[in-house]
Amino acid sequence: MAEEKDIVAGAPGLPSRGSAGTKGITASKEKDFSEWYTQVCTEQGAKLVDIRYNVQGFVVHRPWAFRILRKIYELYEKEVEADGHEPYLFPTVIPEENLLKEKEHAGFSPDVFWVTMAGDEKLEAPLALRPTGETQIYPIYALWIRSYNDLPLKGYQSRITVFRNEKTTRPFLRGREFMFFETHDVFRTHEDAMAQISRDLGMMKRVAWDRLALPFIFFQRPQFDKFKGADNTYAADTLMPDGKRNQMSSTHDLGQRFANAYGLKYDDEDGTEKQPHQTCFGPGIYRHMAALIGIHGDDTGLILPSAVCPLHAVIVPITFSKKPEDAKAVEEFCKKAEKEAAKEFAVKFDSSATTPGFKFNQWEMLGVPVRLEIGPREAKEGKVTIALRAPKEKRTVAFADLNKEIRDSLEKLDSELKARAEKYFANNTKDAKTLKELKDIIEKHRGFVRVPFCSTGMDGEKCADILKTETLGAVVCGTGFENPEKPKKGDKCVVCGKDARHIVYTAKTY
Ligand SMILES: [Zn+2]
Repeated sequence: MAEEKDIVAGAPGLPSRGSAGTKGITASKEKDFSEWYTQVCTEQGAKLVDIRYNVQGFVVHRPWAFRILRKIYELYEKEVEADGHEPYLFPTVIPEENLLKEKEHAGFSPDVFWVTMAGDEKLEAPLALRPTGETQIYPIYALWIRSYNDLPLKGYQSRITVFRNEKTTRPFLRGREFMFFETHDVFRTHEDAMAQISRDLGMMKRVAWDRLALPFIFFQRPQFDKFKGADNTYAADTLMPDGKRNQMSSTHDLGQRFANAYGLKYDDEDGTEKQPHQTCFGPGIYRHMAALIGIHGDDTGLILPSAVCPLHAVIVPITFSKKPEDAKAVEEFCKKAEKEAAKEFAVKFDSSATTPGFKFNQWEMLGVPVRLEIGPREAKEGKVTIALRAPKEKRTVAFADLNKEIRDSLEKLDSELKARAEKYFANNTKDAKTLKELKDIIEKHRGFVRVPFCSTGMDGEKCADILKTETLGAVVCGTGFENPEKPKKGDKCVVCGKDARHIVYTAKTY
């Protein structure tokens, strides 16, 4: 908690004077999610990003957003370190030869930003701004790994950004420079690698679901939609309020492809030289942020789970009384409450010179879970009124119970967010048996639709392409990793009509 207190020093996210005239969010999340999302992210809403930076597709992350993003990072850093990963930091630039060596990776080239000059001299060979870590990390791994004693080798880099020349950008969904987190693991056997993929799923459950209340399905992607350099790709997909899939993480079973390209070898116990197996796991920090905003928010603004909100509670003095002694008593009692709550929570006493109503709006917009209201009556009776962001409710409690009440309130809010998200997820996962049914559902309800499908191998790509065209954009997300549903006897592929071998999930996607 020591870190938490450090975080509240100063005035995190406290609205600047210039914001007094803003009108707040006017779009409805239900009716126009896209506009609502933009408003929440920008000046009109929670001021998460500034999109006025003068390089197109690059945004400024403002303090409130950056504090949330940092907390998401912290949660994953703790998880991967508990799982035996060591942190490291590789350079931002990658020589061209590294990218070219893994020919599957050459596919990245159109999206790569290149550095070609140093001062006024042209570089001998261009340097890529890192689009992802594989091609820089594995040549060094080849130097680090000598024998089976060096395995497993588990490392990660965190709090870095990567660069891709995306054609369209959207805050926290797609950016030309975006926040990145990646693990890179090397094992003796494929069995060890697969066990890691299950552990990566465990981390997603503990962070995305347990702490952030974001439901997801962990898919095995079809062969035609895997990461090019992998044998298999697994991904955690959630559903945004517009029914589109949001890929929150990916884990790649890299097999021995990269070991082959970059010369990773080890001497095994029996004295023979072997090629190791590799995996990499990347929780999308940005994508988690987009899911937090989109799934939990409402027409008032953000609603943040207690694990990532920069503040657990804000104290608002209610002083309409003209008597100076009332104002003084209220201020003192607020300070007392702040001191008490700060023993356990990130709390802030908002003593700024604005009205209580203005403060209510601003902190609700920022998604702070708990508001403590203290007026002359509370100060006199030694009580505090607690208002919860979700579910919307208020109660007055004794000062002696303050921290217990805040704790209960945070628990209640987290459970409420889980219940709401779970309900939305269930209501927007449907089944179709024919292409027509699928098209109807995608058009009216969107979300996930489960359909019988011929093949998730490369031979299924043709049907997936037709499905995408017919539904105006739905993709085959894959089959469930944990409990893949089996087609019933007589189920036919919704596209080609051949016997179905899988039940796949389909959805529109970001
Ligand atoms: Zn088919």
